[in-house]
Amino acid sequence: MAERKPLISGNWKMHHTHLEAIAVVQKLAYSLTPADHQRADVSVHPAFTSLRSVQTLLDADEIPIALGAQNVHPADQGPFTGEVSPVMLAKLNVQYVIVGHSERREHFGETDEFVNQKLLAVQKHGMTPILCVGETLAEREAGHTGIKVLRQLEAGLQGVSLAAASNVVIAYEPIWAIGTGQTASPADAQAVCREVRSWLAKHYDMGLASRVRVQYGGSVTPTNIADLMAEEDIDGALVGGASLDAERFAQIARLGS
Ligand code: PEP
Repeated sequence: MAERKPLISGNWKMHHTHLEAIAVVQKLAYSLTPADHQRADVSVHPAFTSLRSVQTLLDADEIPIALGAQNVHPADQGPFTGEVSPVMLAKLNVQYVIVGHSERREHFGETDEFVNQKLLAVQKHGMTPILCVGETLAEREAGHTGIKVLRQLEAGLQGVSLAAASNVVIAYEPIWAIGTGQTASPADAQAVCREVRSWLAKHYDMGLASRVRVQYGGSVTPTNIADLMAEEDIDGALVGGASLDAERFAQIARLGS
């Protein structure tokens, strides 16, 4: 079984000006020790307007926190007013790009096909996509969690070769748990993350499945992270609200308070 280093990612959504983002990263850098960085990789995903400022700080102070983006357009360039291309992100040393977050699927009508185009574009430019998948409460109550998650997984990974599939992170995020304070139980989250890994083993191979990191996301806090991380198939977390505050996010990145 491959050793998978956990990845703890902070999705700041539409929060923090670039000045606030700088302050949070500075505090985070002071809070996290070399031992913390050895235990887990940490990424921050500020708004587009903060990427350059945060990148400059991370590079200048050699802070071992990865820069992430929340979204991307699949095209390298073109007449797409308001969009940001993977070329632009790669030039800023962005390492991880979230694709298919449920808020983008819900509020901006992003389809599985469009999410797949984004994922391929992110990989083409040498960055790692974090592919979000997850079910609504109605789907969970109808017993359709597995069907929904595996359908999104299959669609999101269309055209991704075995070699390229190593460069993917999957984030299982039950939609009913995002920003609600309701977390999936560690056992329930583990069961879905296990299904994701089994799907990867079936469609690629066991080696690939044992290498890919599967995060859990949905109201992760300093108090529930340790129990989630104790599960075999959960390799980190995609954290929204609790990542906005440097000290709380540092506690999560330490894998528990
Ligand atoms: C998210 O933004 O992906 C998320 C999981 O948010 P929260 O942690 O606030 O539920």
